[in-house]
Amino acid sequence: KDIDPEAPIRMRTYNLAETTPSARAKLLKRPVLNSDAMIAKVRPIVDAVRTGGDAALLKLTAQFDKCTVLKDTPILRAPFHEPTGLDPSVQAAIDVAYNNVRAFHAAQAESTPLRVETMPGVVCSRFARPIARVGLYVPGGTAILPSTALMLGVPAQVAGCKEIVLATPPRPDGSISPEVMYVARLVGASAILRAGGAQAVAAMAYGTETVPKVDKIFGPGNQWVTAAKMLVQNDTDALVSIDMPAGPSEVLVIADETCDPAFVAADLLSQAEHGVDSQVVLVAVGLPDSTIAAIEEEVDSQARALPRVDIMRESIPKSIIVKTASVAEALDFSNDYAPEHLILHLRDAPGAVPLVQNAGSVFVGPYSPESCGDYASGTNHTLPTNGYARQFSGVNTQSFQKHITSQEVTADGLKGLGPVVATLADCEGLGAHANAVRIRLRSMQ
Ligand code: NAD
Repeated sequence: KDIDPEAPIRMRTYNLAETTPSARAKLLKRPVLNSDAMIAKVRPIVDAVRTGGDAALLKLTAQFDKCTVLKDTPILRAPFHEPTGLDPSVQAAIDVAYNNVRAFHAAQAESTPLRVETMPGVVCSRFARPIARVGLYVPGGTAILPSTALMLGVPAQVAGCKEIVLATPPRPDGSISPEVMYVARLVGASAILRAGGAQAVAAMAYGTETVPKVDKIFGPGNQWVTAAKMLVQNDTDALVSIDMPAGPSEVLVIADETCDPAFVAADLLSQAEHGVDSQVVLVAVGLPDSTIAAIEEEVDSQARALPRVDIMRESIPKSIIVKTASVAEALDFSNDYAPEHLILHLRDAPGAVPLVQNAGSVFVGPYSPESCGDYASGTNHTLPTNGYARQFSGVNTQSFQKHITSQEVTADGLKGLGPVVATLADCEGLGAHANAVRIRLRSMQ
């Protein structure tokens, strides 16, 4: 593409007070994803694995990942070999991240059943059980991502999932990175599927001769992975669910006059480096033009000094600065945008948190960069994008559990509740339902 390396790396600026409702609605939109076209491209790959099993999977791995050395099966079963070539400082960092993520996710596991006596002799309860078999997709096309393996593996481990299949594209020699291997051992994965893209998702959804079929598939990935997850979750034969719809990563930063322009710029860029379609938004609360200019200067100069500047040359010009007059107005805009990541550079950042209605994860105050949540503070980095923070939570321990309810009604309890049930069943014309109650009430007379 013809991008002038000398041109300033600039966002576009809008003033909310001068923005019409339709222009505001446009600011809230993300770049359009053509998912129908992707699904059509992915379907032949998914069908090939569903019908052709391991042989088809190995053929696709040879084709897309240039890995031709895997014979018979792409599956490695635990116990896995000790990874070689792992940098000790990386290993130590993974250990700290693992402990923090584990502490936060273990606290989310529900160990005590909920129990409520709704009427005398009528006890309702709800208890959690792990999803037995889960598939964790760890992208591996362009980067190694041990952090994603941690963020998916730890909650699966603390939830008590029995079969944890970690899928990641193999390197041409059939190996996977020592970092991901190390995490697979830490989180107690039961199998590693050396396959990527749509074919890995299909193998986990349907199972093959050697790949275990799973009940739920988690994890980010490129558009092949995302489209395959959408396809298999709509196939009742697969009987598989997925974590959430995925889209390009995004951040919304709210800053007032107390902000440090260099920190704000660094936070915007840390998201803008993900991909050319990443979205970053700065909501400026009463910032003087000089502060906005200082932030823009920092964006430009810091970007030029960073390794992924070429990506930022494309993502930053698609990103926006929205000027607002008050914190309340800024939060209104943010809640309508429903960002994956929300960073608060405000005089009273904790005081603004109660106003947050829609966001994947919130970063409170100047010393809480998004990077901390991405790697090691303890929160999960698999979060809803594209406005889905309105109705989805990020991945958490309960994403790996389901909740079962139960009721236990005593004879006396049925004397109180039964007539209510029979009346409602009669009202709906379901005589057998009413009968199942009355037959018992009669037996007690
Ligand atoms: P990936 O593992 O998602 O995809 C690699 C696979 O894509 C290959 O194994 C191959 O099978 C398949 N593929 C590639 N080109 C293909 C083609 N032409 N036809 C069929 N299949 C093809 O790795 P990636 O490509 O590096 O993408 C990683 C993605 O994950 C990025 O988009 C990144 O932004 C995203 N990500 C998101 C998060 C998050 O939390 N939101 C975290 C990490 C990564």
